[in-house]
Amino acid sequence: MKKRVVVLGATGSIGESTLRVARALPNRIEIVGISGGQNVQRLLEIAREFPAARICTGDELGAATLRSELPGREVLHEADGLETLASTPEADLVLVAIVGTAGLKPALRALETDKDLAVASKEILVMAGEQVMATAERMGGRVLPVDSEHNAVFQCLEGQDLSAVKRLILTCSGGPFRKASAADLAMVTPEQALRHPTWSMGRKISIDSATLFNKGLEMIEARWLFNIPMEKIDVVIHPQSIVHSMVEFVDGSIMAQMSSTDMALPIQYALTYPDRYAGPCAPLDLASVRRLDFEEPRTDLFPALELARRAGTAGGTLPAVLNAANESAVEAFLAGRLSFIGIWESVDRAMNEVPFVQHPSLDELIEADHAARSIVVR
Ligand code: NAD
Ligand code: MG
Repeated sequence: MKKRVVVLGATGSIGESTLRVARALPNRIEIVGISGGQNVQRLLEIAREFPAARICTGDELGAATLRSELPGREVLHEADGLETLASTPEADLVLVAIVGTAGLKPALRALETDKDLAVASKEILVMAGEQVMATAERMGGRVLPVDSEHNAVFQCLEGQDLSAVKRLILTCSGGPFRKASAADLAMVTPEQALRHPTWSMGRKISIDSATLFNKGLEMIEARWLFNIPMEKIDVVIHPQSIVHSMVEFVDGSIMAQMSSTDMALPIQYALTYPDRYAGPCAPLDLASVRRLDFEEPRTDLFPALELARRAGTAGGTLPAVLNAANESAVEAFLAGRLSFIGIWESVDRAMNEVPFVQHPSLDELIEADHAARSIVVR
């Protein structure tokens, strides 16, 4: 059966890998919707390649350009357009790969209109995991993880009983500063932080990988995706990024998922689940990898993991505050207005200062998100 897929964030790193999967599996995947932010030129090329797709762009001006280049095609724009695209009647699945929380409302809309959701944007599960999972449950839709760690856990859990799980072990490359000293960290520039050792990704997630907030966000993401308490979620540093994550069971058995460092694999598994096909991901040659290393994370120098554990354990508005403060701090760091260490400090400060609500509504979550951002830019 062909899956009809809407890709939100088609012009980004995950979006382009998704299109690579679609090109390799034309009998399995049909692209019926695409969105892009500011890169109108690339969106136009993608729209020409996938003529069945409805299109949504970042602003009115981009929409006017696309309409004049693609007469007869439906072109939407901005946040409302994203929600309309996410509810495309003929779609089976919506993949959300937009940076930050802009994908939250479209993700909820996709579930509410009876589609499965493939989530790359971890920020939306961190901010509103409870709401997203409850909506999926109510509507009978699936939430399929695209993030490589969660996709690995998802594969390891196939056919297993959750009550037999002792803990999830998320692997973490350690980022570009795995061996840095406290003095080195005080001097980090955006150029250094953007240079990830094993993955090529968008700017926001590359900085998150350098601070380890990426792994912190992933701990909270896992908590919601697999409905598992925070104390059963651990992180181990694995510099080769070959083991994408593991599940330890009560009998002492540990299952791991391995593959080359290519996001095409987890994307494909989410899109074709539960089926497997030969796709674009290169096979893994273990003999050329030669060794797999594992070590403890340095939580003293990288406080992101402990901040995330605190937020995920408390729940309520705290994960949304952590996420929003981090997003805002990363922007400030990339713009040269905040130091690298300032990212952790800003998140800690926002978590201490924004009033806590234990069972927030969606509006209260958005309010907490805004309050956290205003504390960071203050
Ligand atoms: P990216 O910056 O390469 O691409 C982001 C896409 O979203 C682009 O198409 C952009 O035009 C669009 N976009 C950005 N802001 C928008 C807004 N406000 N409204 C509408 N569209 C907007 O990012 P990426 O690396 O592809 O990451 C996307 C998401 O996937 C992030 O949440 C990231 O954490 C997650 N993720 C990425 C990877 C990876 O390997 N790149 C791995 C796991 C998870
Ligand atoms: Mg990941």
